[in-house]
Amino acid sequence: MAYKTVLEMIGNTPLMRLDFGTKPTLLAKLEYLNPGGSIKDRCALYMIEEAEREGKLKPGGTIVEASSGNQGISLAMIGKIKGYRVIITAPDRTAPEKLAVLKAYGAEVHVCPNTDTHDDPRNYHTFAEYMARTIPGAYMPNQYFNKANPQAHYLSTGPEIWEQTEGTVTHVICGAGSCGTMSGIGRALKERNPAIKIIGVDAATSMYSSKEPKAYNVEGLGIDVISDTFDQKVVDEILPITDADAFNMVRKLSLQYGYLYGISTGAVMHIALEYAKNLTEKDVVVVIFADSGRNYLSKVFGYEIKKAEVSAIQGAPVPTHVISE
Ligand code: PMP
Repeated sequence: MAYKTVLEMIGNTPLMRLDFGTKPTLLAKLEYLNPGGSIKDRCALYMIEEAEREGKLKPGGTIVEASSGNQGISLAMIGKIKGYRVIITAPDRTAPEKLAVLKAYGAEVHVCPNTDTHDDPRNYHTFAEYMARTIPGAYMPNQYFNKANPQAHYLSTGPEIWEQTEGTVTHVICGAGSCGTMSGIGRALKERNPAIKIIGVDAATSMYSSKEPKAYNVEGLGIDVISDTFDQKVVDEILPITDADAFNMVRKLSLQYGYLYGISTGAVMHIALEYAKNLTEKDVVVVIFADSGRNYLSKVFGYEIKKAEVSAIQGAPVPTHVISE
């Protein structure tokens, strides 16, 4: 069987056993294997197709979204396949690799200052909303307020986890940004077994976790907008992560174990390994590996990709890029 488009390959990601010597079984849901490289393919596709069904997005239309990267990348990929113009606003904390990927998919990218709150008109959400209001035929999925976002995980990610663990899952730990992932997974799993615990990981200085919110450097997670996409009934705990703990775990996972995954994965793994200390052999913990570490080579590892200053030896292949520390 051959797929008709890459869109049919979104979802149904594998579950991988992690051996970190913990008492509970630790299983990673490998969301970076989605075609756009992250878990956000799932909700991007569902939000776009809902908008098409509802007539909010018409042929020749424009998709505008505020995204610290992955939601934008998924929308840029899906938008290109479906023939829409895509405009993405991103905060300037966004890793340059992600901005480059957005451009490679042909999206128009606006990088906005990393403001402390959304009240600032230069904030990337505020600017995206302004563009969606003023560009004719524009549609803003607005992942932070769109019920189709958690619904995508309610319909796909949650049931997949249930089936792949044959109903034995006891805990799910995932990053919390728009809160769509944990809310959708939570609703799906608690319908099947209300005892399953859903744990979200938030940036320690987000609007939600801190009395004095401050800009942070972790990406993907961070609850700065509290809206209906956050279904508090199905989430048991939200635990804070610092930039340092998340970044250190990303480096450790890659350098010691060969798992090159993203910042929210580092954050989730740091929390999961702490959390696992209070669990037993009977517990089955699913952790969400939301994207790949290749998005963060400069930001987390400090690798700068630049053009090599190598002169060609006659007839030999010319290396065009080097990585320097
Ligand atoms: N991890 C990564 C890498 C992400 O891109 C996102 C989405 N911003 C999340 C976690 C959090 O997912 P959600 O928005 O569903 O809460």
